[in-house]
Amino acid sequence: MPEPSLVKMPVYPWPRRYGPRAGQFVLGAREHVCGAGAATPEADRFRAELEALHGRRIAAAREGRLAVRRARRLAADAYELDVSAQGVELRYGTRAGLLYGLDTLLALVARRNGRLVLPACQLVDAPYKPLRGIHLYMPSREHIPFFKRLLRFLARLRLNTVFLEVGGGMEFKRHPEINRSWESFARFAGPYNEQASRRVQQSRGFWKDSVHAELAGGSYLTQAEVADLVRAARALHIEVVPEVQSLSHCYYLCLAHPEIAERAEDPFPDTYCPSNPKSYRLLFDVLDEVIRVFRPRQVHIGHDEWYTIGVCPRCRNKSDAELLTADVTRIARYLERRGIGTCMWGDKLLNFIGDNGQRYGGVRRKIVNPLSEFVERRPPTFEAMRTLSRSVVQAHWYYSLSRTIDDALVRNGWRFFYGNFSAARFQNWAGRSPTPACLGGEMSTWVEVSERVFGLTGMFLNFVLGANMLWSDRIRESSPLPPERRAGASDSGEGRAPRTAGWPTAHRAAAGAVPSLRRHLAGGPLPSEMRRARFRPLPLGRVATHGLTGRLNGVRFNMEALRSGLGKAGRLAAHGIPFVPARGGKATIGLGYATADRVRLGYRGTARSFVFLHALHMPDAVPGSYRSQDWENHTVAIYRIVYEDRYFVELPVLSEHTIGRLDARYGNERLARTFPAFPAWSDGRRTLYAFEWVNPHPARHIARIYLDAGGVTRSIFTGVTPRGPAQKGGVLVAAITAVL
Ligand SMILES: [Zn+2]
Repeated sequence: MPEPSLVKMPVYPWPRRYGPRAGQFVLGAREHVCGAGAATPEADRFRAELEALHGRRIAAAREGRLAVRRARRLAADAYELDVSAQGVELRYGTRAGLLYGLDTLLALVARRNGRLVLPACQLVDAPYKPLRGIHLYMPSREHIPFFKRLLRFLARLRLNTVFLEVGGGMEFKRHPEINRSWESFARFAGPYNEQASRRVQQSRGFWKDSVHAELAGGSYLTQAEVADLVRAARALHIEVVPEVQSLSHCYYLCLAHPEIAERAEDPFPDTYCPSNPKSYRLLFDVLDEVIRVFRPRQVHIGHDEWYTIGVCPRCRNKSDAELLTADVTRIARYLERRGIGTCMWGDKLLNFIGDNGQRYGGVRRKIVNPLSEFVERRPPTFEAMRTLSRSVVQAHWYYSLSRTIDDALVRNGWRFFYGNFSAARFQNWAGRSPTPACLGGEMSTWVEVSERVFGLTGMFLNFVLGANMLWSDRIRESSPLPPERRAGASDSGEGRAPRTAGWPTAHRAAAGAVPSLRRHLAGGPLPSEMRRARFRPLPLGRVATHGLTGRLNGVRFNMEALRSGLGKAGRLAAHGIPFVPARGGKATIGLGYATADRVRLGYRGTARSFVFLHALHMPDAVPGSYRSQDWENHTVAIYRIVYEDRYFVELPVLSEHTIGRLDARYGNERLARTFPAFPAWSDGRRTLYAFEWVNPHPARHIARIYLDAGGVTRSIFTGVTPRGPAQKGGVLVAAITAVL
């Protein structure tokens, strides 16, 4: 039998080979899992997740029809699966391979006519790249539960590395002054936005490093809490690489110890002096504590945005490449003596001048601060490309400038991974990634570690797309950009993602994968996925305010194609969830952004969740980004469940997280990169998104539901009112289905 199309591939990230066969394996009422892998935490997890999702318990035993065996010939992370009508055999090389294989097994289980079945098949799988990671700030205490759910989600995507930025965000027992000064500095600087940037980063004439005040919520975790996060990751075969910023980005060190600052007159120094022995005494104390807590195999030593170079009397007469080489060598040797490898941001090693004459990385250049008109001269550091030890792995995050930078790294004998990896922007993946010098990639988040902010800034979809690129060897299809796309000398600036003409395979496959990935972030199966789920589409006819075409708050829309997409019963089914849009002239609910629009729906009874089929129709809406990460600014409506006892709960509807853009294809444009909302209907030009809101009080009787544009009433709990400049358009709701 031929392999299904990649869009319909039942396993995501895509396996290396999937060969369906005739027949199926029916999971009997009493099945046993056996073999060397049966008595492992991975198998325990598989059995628990199978039971939660399908209500079927499988025991471990000496004999059974589900065999899980170790095969030493299989390389790290690889596994093989054979399913026939008689039985299932999973073979794995390492325990990570076991986890991935069991995840694949779970993904293949389907419900058919009341039975649980696995399609007969032969599957071979192995990773394309060994390093598949993301970058995170240390989370705040409040978001530790999210961090742990995120780890499961990452492991499900076969990601195996978290670069965790430590900064002043972990308790330092020998240097509590670091934590104290970090807290007061983060409070002063505030979360990143334009004002915050002026308060610190642009407060002096010279350019300064970004602050990362969201790290650990502007506070710090105890060493026990951090060790617990590292353990949780390790249990999912995720290596946590501490990022201990050094040389640059060192507010956390220099504020507590101004005597090591390179620029003595700066009230917020970001760079330590690499000629001052005291700098290293402090840094190595910090490293010792980090090493004790993380037990790392490698440490990321930062070194990006090194702006303040050679200004103190001790450094002034030294060459700048020499300063950089001496600093990195000293730290790398310290780590090496402890059996630990080093990686660093590689920008200062680069000698690159763009087609437009713009100078980047480690090239000599003159910089004029636009606010102060202060002129600074940045000395060249690229010579360090030749002098540094090749054992230091480079995080190459200037990949979007030109392919020639990759070539320079390879030619000079470096190993690297793509840093700040952006799946939607990476040009020519199939042409650039095969070199063995490229170990993989790392997708960065430079925002608060929370579900809301990751959602609205599009992080989740980048993880989903990027994981497939790093795992799957189908490198032409896994990139959302066409492979022939030239690696140009374009800037990587915000909003310049190249648009693609069609709807690429990679985006369509990701869209299909999202529904079954949601549960890992939710901490368990969604009510709509459960075996006993019953669906109750809500009649919207009486409360509908708009037709399928019309104007919403001044902006025209047309969803007429939705009518032809409906089956005979007037239904639309998406991943097992039925939606029944209202018929007649008034068929949808429109909520004009920040207007007094408000719709009240009567509802009697209980519900485990509500699934909204809706879209954002607001042409001027601003996508979330590093520069606009305040979730209140991206709240476009508020939904409310009111219970019979008048208690109520609220859902702020967040662009890109719970709702996406109507006039776009999923993933192709910003504001259409939703997660966990997923595209449930599309005519190729317009998309409606399904978002399942789990009711936190499933036994409580509900009286009514409000859909509120939020212009008049504000959220009681969060104080949020949709705000920002008055904008046209708003939210369109096409259907709502209750899950009982
Ligand atoms: Zn100095």
